[in-house]
Amino acid sequence: MELFEQIEGTEHEQIIFCNNNEAGLKAIIAIHNTVLGPALGGLRMWPYGTEQEALDDVLRLSRGMTYKAAVSGLNLGGGKSVIIGDPRKDKSEALFRAFGRFIDSLNGRYITAEDVGIDVNDMEFLFQETNNVVGVHQVHGGSGDPSPYTAYGTLQGIKAALQKKFGDQEVGKYSFAVQGAGHVGHNLIRLLRDEGCKVFVTDFNEESVAGAVEMGAEAVGLDEVYDLDCDVFSPCALGAVVNEDTIPRFKFKVIAGAANNQLANDEAGDELDARGILYAPDYAVNAGGLMNVSIEFEGWNRERALRMTRTIYYNLSKIFSIAERDNIPSYKAADRMAEERIEIIGKLKLPHMGKPHRFPGRERHGHA
Ligand code: NAD
Repeated sequence: MELFEQIEGTEHEQIIFCNNNEAGLKAIIAIHNTVLGPALGGLRMWPYGTEQEALDDVLRLSRGMTYKAAVSGLNLGGGKSVIIGDPRKDKSEALFRAFGRFIDSLNGRYITAEDVGIDVNDMEFLFQETNNVVGVHQVHGGSGDPSPYTAYGTLQGIKAALQKKFGDQEVGKYSFAVQGAGHVGHNLIRLLRDEGCKVFVTDFNEESVAGAVEMGAEAVGLDEVYDLDCDVFSPCALGAVVNEDTIPRFKFKVIAGAANNQLANDEAGDELDARGILYAPDYAVNAGGLMNVSIEFEGWNRERALRMTRTIYYNLSKIFSIAERDNIPSYKAADRMAEERIEIIGKLKLPHMGKPHRFPGRERHGHA
């Protein structure tokens, strides 16, 4: 397909191709929608097989960020960026500083953060060239590791789903199957165990499993997890784990976890709905990380971050109400809630819209 033909069909506002020969930089920034505010979304570094793969990824991911921010009540739009390269071999100071210049040239229309293949040291180089990064180190007034907030937000989503499905939020009464005990999964298991829940865990990584078992979780096999007789399935590892092969095996009543893109396709969401399994839409449940970095605009502190993360409960409750109001599955209701907010708030044409964020209390070394 011709490039512009593909872009036309995606509704993106702007796509920037970034090239710097000296630094070996080949990157794409995609700004999907800035109606609610500047586009925020992480930078991914990945050895894409083709440029088309990189473009497809950045277009898909940036659109997802628009929906996540909108449904979470944030004054942010959706964007994302990708660097084509192998994060184990191709990183350099020059690469990130060159890319930082491109981000800076957008004057705050796009704000970046960490994503797959990027670590806090890479963020330091970007931060030298632009203020438009979040998730910088706490020594610069940044918010640090988002995972504990993502996990805490996931717990709020779980509570909303339990309330909808069973009419109470007594988390400790219910049993959980957590798939993936990495950064988010580990923190979530700790929170669930603190509530007294029965927790099953599975992970490729034996150390992660051991850490969860130490907190009182029971280890199960990688495939066995889909057959467990327990109340809530909480995917915290990979996408597409809710699919035509796994759904017929489910005895779960609720699916609520932090992993991105849990549904393999729309049919999987329809099938869950038909079977009466309540699905808490992933991008609303796992927004704690995004909320946490967004606090950096006002000056980050832990209390503010936790307070905002607790709003995930209300966001999920609203999604379930829209699903009931319009008689649609919850995954569609989440999209509808995001689209309605963009449309209604967009029409208000509020004065701060389209203005770049300031970052009070953040120090950038070497810059006035
Ligand atoms: P992570 O890499 O720290 O942890 C993922 C864990 O899943 C690892 O321990 C890995 O061994 C395990 N895993 C991978 N495949 C598995 C499988 N098939 N079965 C069982 N375990 C498997 O990642 P994370 O930061 O904890 O993120 C987890 C998920 O949540 C990802 O989908 C991520 O995109 C999403 N998410 C994370 C954040 C955040 O703040 N970290 C925010 C939003 C969304």
